[in-house]
Amino acid sequence: MRYRTQSAAQTQQLARQFVEELLRSLPKQGTATVVGLSGELGAGKTTFMKGVARHLGITEEITSPTFVIQKIYEIPARLIPEGEEAPCQRFQRLVHLDAYRLSSGEELAAIGWHDTLTDPANLVFIEWPEMVESVLPLRARRIVFEAPEGGDPDERRITIEGEEGEGAREA
Ligand code: ADP
Ligand code: MG
Repeated sequence: MRYRTQSAAQTQQLARQFVEELLRSLPKQGTATVVGLSGELGAGKTTFMKGVARHLGITEEITSPTFVIQKIYEIPARLIPEGEEAPCQRFQRLVHLDAYRLSSGEELAAIGWHDTLTDPANLVFIEWPEMVESVLPLRARRIVFEAPEGGDPDERRITIEGEEGEGAREA
């Protein structure tokens, strides 16, 4: 599905919508959930992450992990109204990676990529997934960010692949 946003706030609103949809439609899998965020510098990938993190209840400030490669945030337990049963909370950690400075998937191994992938409690978003394509799971979702040239500098095209017959890559 293709979206057009006209501000950073709108991109974050789309991020919240994406998280809700993801939580509703989680496949039963024994591994981490991985989402690739593709697009040029300044296209809005990290801005989108801020919306994801806020929606998951993370209060820490989200900054670009370009230089540290990876940041891990604890996802707080959802508040349950008194008298209601606690739902199973699948995700405990939001893992934010930026592969811009990496040149191959092997470099991810050095920072524990294998362990990250094997834990179903990890929700992983990775900027510049193309740099480490060889170590991404086949079932990774992908979102593509584009800033059209000319016109409104705050306009972005955001394509969420794998929604409603968008041609999801099958594992
Ligand atoms: P990336 O991580 O893709 O390099 P960032 O999210 O760090 O990009 O930067 C995007 C910049 O563009 C931010 O300064 C943000 O405020 C600005 N911006 C303007 N309009 C939008 C929009 N519609 N969506 C996302 N960011 C926008
Ligand atoms: Mg970024």
